[in-house]
Amino acid sequence: MQQVITGWTTDDEGDWVALLACGHRRHVRHRPPLFPAPWVLDEIGRSDHVGQPIDCGRCRQGILPPLTDETATLTWIDARATDVEWVMGGRTNHWELVVVAEGRVHLELTFADGDTTTWWLEGGMQRALPVGCAYRLRTATHASVLLARFDQS
Ligand SMILES: [Zn+2]
Repeated sequence: MQQVITGWTTDDEGDWVALLACGHRRHVRHRPPLFPAPWVLDEIGRSDHVGQPIDCGRCRQGILPPLTDETATLTWIDARATDVEWVMGGRTNHWELVVVAEGRVHLELTFADGDTTTWWLEGGMQRALPVGCAYRLRTATHASVLLARFDQS
């Protein structure tokens, strides 16, 4: 999923790390010939890329970013019937975390840039839903699911 670069920092080894609007960080290294990014080595090149989109693999993998000053709202869904479906969309300002307590659910995610991905989740598994994505959650069996919503203050 594409996320906008909001700034830069370096890691312990001095490699450049892009700060992304989603809250994740992504290394950008000049590694020719496969990953040429000579622009990351100078300050003008880096500042030219602030505001530009870059792919965020952590969003795509459903990993929750480190959140600061958030308040969490927890919702339990206890689906007694199979084939229950929740469709959520237009979440523009908060992350959600889907935690499957028991049973099996199918999660279909449409990212803000139009990419989609699907997962089967079983008891004990979780996925984070990035800001701006729409999702569809469908039960395959009796399932208990915890939805945690994180609002940044
Ligand atoms: Zn991200």
